[in-house]
Amino acid sequence: MAEKKAGKTGKKKHKNKPTSKKYAKYKIEGNKIIRGKTCPRCGAGIFLMEANNRLYCGNCHYTSFEKKQ
Ligand SMILES: [Zn+2]
Repeated sequence: MAEKKAGKTGKKKHKNKPTSKKYAKYKIEGNKIIRGKTCPRCGAGIFLMEANNRLYCGNCHYTSFEKKQ
C-alpha cells in the first residue's frame, strides 16, 4: 500500500510590505526621534513639516517659527 503524500498547495509566500513612507524621513532609535519634530498640540506621532523657517502641522495647522541659532 503506497501512500502518496499530496504536496502542499495553495500556500502563498508572505511578502513583507515596506513600512509606510511617511516615516522614511525620520530616524527612530528606540523611542527617541532623532530627526523631525512632533506637534506640541497633537503630541508624539504627529510630525511637523519643515517649510522654509517654519514648522507646520498638517493635522491641526499648528505653525511654529524656527528660531535662528
Ligand atoms: Zn498638530
